[in-house]
Amino acid sequence: MSDECNTKADHGEQMTHPKGHCYKVSQLITLKKDGRLTWIEQLMLSTHLVMCKKCRQFTKNVDEMSAMMRSFNRQD
Ligand SMILES: [Zn+2]
Repeated sequence: MSDECNTKADHGEQMTHPKGHCYKVSQLITLKKDGRLTWIEQLMLSTHLVMCKKCRQFTKNVDEMSAMMRSFNRQD
């Protein structure tokens, strides 16, 4: 019963502190590029991206940047 309470409190905390959560999510996005996310982190990430426009934009930037890096490497 107390476990259920804690889960609710955690969720509320994430909702009321979006900035700290976005910071964590941006780290996950970077880690994802290296394929180092656990399934629960991937789930957390995709859930957050649905709600957060800022982090969707960040994901897009990371994608564009790594595409750019790939084209640089190709020229070499
Ligand atoms: Zn976010």
